Amino acid sequence: VKVSELVDESYRRIQETDDKVQAFLALNEEEARQQAKDLDEKIGTEESQQVLFGMPIGIKDNIVTKGLRTTCASKILENFDPIYDATVMGKLHSANTITIGKLNMDEFAMGSSTENSAFQITHNPWNLNTVPGGSSGGSAAAVAAGEVPFSLGSDTGGSIRQPAAFCGVVGMKPTYGRVSRFGLVAFASSLDQIGPITRTVEDNAYLLQAISGVDPHDSTSANVEVPNYVQALTGDIKGLKIAVPKEYLGEGVSEEARQSVLSALKVLEGLGATWEEVSLPHSKYGVATYYLLASSEASSNLARFDGVRYGYRTPNAKNLEELYKKTRSEGFGEEVKRRIMLGTFALSAGYYDAYYKKAQQARTLIKKDFDDILEKYDVIIGPTTPTPAFKIGEIVDDPLTMYANDILTIPVNLAGVPGISVPCGFVNGLPLGLQIIGKHFDESTVYRVAHAFE
Ligand code: GLN
Repeated sequence: VKVSELVDESYRRIQETDDKVQAFLALNEEEARQQAKDLDEKIGTEESQQVLFGMPIGIKDNIVTKGLRTTCASKILENFDPIYDATVMGKLHSANTITIGKLNMDEFAMGSSTENSAFQITHNPWNLNTVPGGSSGGSAAAVAAGEVPFSLGSDTGGSIRQPAAFCGVVGMKPTYGRVSRFGLVAFASSLDQIGPITRTVEDNAYLLQAISGVDPHDSTSANVEVPNYVQALTGDIKGLKIAVPKEYLGEGVSEEARQSVLSALKVLEGLGATWEEVSLPHSKYGVATYYLLASSEASSNLARFDGVRYGYRTPNAKNLEELYKKTRSEGFGEEVKRRIMLGTFALSAGYYDAYYKKAQQARTLIKKDFDDILEKYDVIIGPTTPTPAFKIGEIVDDPLTMYANDILTIPVNLAGVPGISVPCGFVNGLPLGLQIIGKHFDESTVYRVAHAFE
């Protein structure tokens, strides 16, 4: 096939489905079609042997794309056209993928349903009355709806894995430091990671391969060799040791999610793996710890949106102080304001020790639980989410219930280890995800298990 046919097919599918799904915030159509023509000229050359050559991809709207509007689904960046590319975008250009457009998300990646977008609500392609998950809801829905075969999302507390689970696709949060965050609009810098969302594990491995690696522009990116992930997909998991935390099958997890994990474990046993129950005793503090740390970091990161340097500026200010205040109160949505206030409070002099410092200590304990278990086992397995997708509007006014959705994904970010969600059955026509968690920088084993199970 020609690249232009792939790109045509992608836009045709978007035309056909996106008024219902509403995954895309912006399309890059003219540019993409031109690139496709240019790549068609190269078919037959060595360059065209690149594995992702001409592949259509959608990009979450918090990854900056030169000349292509990047809003973070926020009114405050409504008219922001970046003058540079994120490092991952440079890598995708070298791999000759084609950017189809920018994908909807919860504003600044804060949310679990994509209902916090300032612009539109994305619907789950499996059932349009349900949410696609979040915050990378557009990225997961676009792949599930067949609009693009590949997308990038970001995951701070579950935002790749949870929407992948809800939409029945494969989503990987790499090890912290595996992928450069340069050009990813920062939410919580010590947790954020970019990662791939795809239909298959193999596609996922190819895409992670393309975007991984140390980057001089991101001092937290790690100088660790990037192995060949696709070579790890041998199908062989004989002798593999799996840990199953009892907290991941206990209170708050639905019977359906529990059963789907137990049947997945049977499949893995059939392939020669063994499993044992373990405990992550501090994971019960995960949600509280995460919301203190992530909000604290966000309150600091989002200080840059002041109406002076870029984005929205209030037309109603009479002096500088008013410019800041009005720009921010008119530009940010409810959830973002809630996080900024919580974070500012947790970091304030009188409360720092009680909240921020305490949360850092709890994070250390949570990380240690994971390190201890991963010393003895190859992977940790559990459900990605406690339930399948919920209805649009069902919990949007109840932030604590919304936060609890991430109970099984958040500890993985706090520990910094890699985690994938792969499809693992259905309940009432809605997909469930199996979460496979690995050792630091051992995405290969995570992929190997995911591929053998798939
Ligand atoms: N749902 C979580 C939150 O709202 C996680 C978001 C994310 O991973 N970006 O913070």
